[in-house]
Amino acid sequence: MMRTTIEVFGARVRQARILRRMTGKTVLAEMGWKGARQTRLEQADVTVLDVDTATRLAEVLRFPLEFFATAPVSRVDVGNLLFRAPKATSAMEREYLAQFAVSVGDLLEDLNSRWQLPPVKLPDLTRLTDPVAAARTTRERLSLDPDAPIGYLTYEVERAGVAVVLRARRTKSSGELEWGPGDGVREKHLGYATRVGEYGDRPLIVLRAVDSWERIRWTVAHELGHLVLHADGVREDEQEEQASRFASELLAPAAVIAAEVPKVASLHNLMPLKQRWGISLGALLRHLFESELIDAHRYAMLRRQLYTRINPETGHTWGRTEPGWDEREPEQPRLLAKWVERCYNATSPAMLAPRRLIWPQDLLEDILAGQRSAPSTSVTTPPKSTSSTPTNASTGAPPSGAAGWEHGSRSSAENSIPVSANGGKVLDFDRFRSKRQA
Ligand SMILES: [Zn+2]
Repeated sequence: MMRTTIEVFGARVRQARILRRMTGKTVLAEMGWKGARQTRLEQADVTVLDVDTATRLAEVLRFPLEFFATAPVSRVDVGNLLFRAPKATSAMEREYLAQFAVSVGDLLEDLNSRWQLPPVKLPDLTRLTDPVAAARTTRERLSLDPDAPIGYLTYEVERAGVAVVLRARRTKSSGELEWGPGDGVREKHLGYATRVGEYGDRPLIVLRAVDSWERIRWTVAHELGHLVLHADGVREDEQEEQASRFASELLAPAAVIAAEVPKVASLHNLMPLKQRWGISLGALLRHLFESELIDAHRYAMLRRQLYTRINPETGHTWGRTEPGWDEREPEQPRLLAKWVERCYNATSPAMLAPRRLIWPQDLLEDILAGQRSAPSTSVTTPPKSTSSTPTNASTGAPPSGAAGWEHGSRSSAENSIPVSANGGKVLDFDRFRSKRQA
């Protein structure tokens, strides 16, 4: 017997439309509908459509028909996004970010039902917790040495059950340039965190792929701070500052690094600290000041140096591309790729196509774009003894050959920061100093 009608979930219709960055009006016009039909459809729990109409709707929205007929699992409201969106962030953009998280959440539920994801090990604290204490507790929960640099932070975070998505510079599914030098930088935040899944208990961090390893690492730590401290939402600047304080303290506990801070700190002699603990000079300066390891005068002076001098390699200030900015590869997540591999035996997003999942292929590719591949070189937990080894930068480096999940974030043609012709790695502080004195 031929099926002639199909039950369509309103939330799915809305989700697909937002992920395609289409307005209700556009869908209405393309469907040849009138009045509030699209709105009614989106607001209804379930609507019975004839199969032809549903198929046409699926075509307009470029989602598989099954997507609309599958009950939504995750629910993320804009208010559940843990970030203080800059004022310029439109309501549409926030909706987009929320619905993107919902898609990841549903995919995670699907994967979890096939192979259980790592249990969540984050401490449950509140905004009343001192960020320094929160960072210590988090290190403890993640079984990290309280006194040692964290090697590959993203890996540790995923091991604690937090899914991480690195969004590529261009999305395939919404057909738009998300951010970049020429697009007026519609997205000003570097990432956001939320909780997804049927019961809203799977923490998720969504990051923008940027070229700065310092920024990616620190953003992971910052978002982790939101997850640990701000389960009830982020509404004020104060919480942003808490998350930032948490981030720096997590990466470089002030009580531990105090012994390594030179008596008269300079950008030059702080470099070993940056390299060893994997924290940007910009964040480090502020951290040292807030932890009373440098005074206000020195802080202001070093900050001024960092943000006014031009890095001759990149043409940006040293604040934007710091000395050592290309010493590590930016961290990449791996958990999602690993689970897709486990559950679907797929080692690239393309291999998912024949599985006919409910999500469109281009959206899956967007979700998986930033994942790290190469199980042969998979990251191991850095040895605890690194606390006494000044060469920690090597454990912080990701495995080479992370190219399997292509469309990754590192396509150099799209980099906003030009890579030096000789392949980078040439930037050292002595050159900066000599330029300065010249
Ligand atoms: Zn934040």
